Amino acid sequence: MTYEIQPAIVCENCIKCGRRPVIEQTKKDWKVKCPNKSCANEVSSSIVDMEQWNRKNKPDIDINQQGTTFKHTA
Ligand SMILES: [Zn+2]
Repeated sequence: MTYEIQPAIVCENCIKCGRRPVIEQTKKDWKVKCPNKSCANEVSSSIVDMEQWNRKNKPDIDINQQGTTFKHTA
């Protein structure tokens, strides 16, 4: 059974196809997954683990190596 994630909840889109993930409840756990089967992009946990999904689907930026480039110039 899959559920749409409420629009008020902030989450990353699938890093492969850009679609908003859905939540699926299975007998033993919860999944956050891309509705596009060909992405095979999902995380599963005993809870709805949006943080894990977000970490996995963030654009790959290493903040430590960016150093001070986050200064505001305005
Ligand atoms: Zn996808």
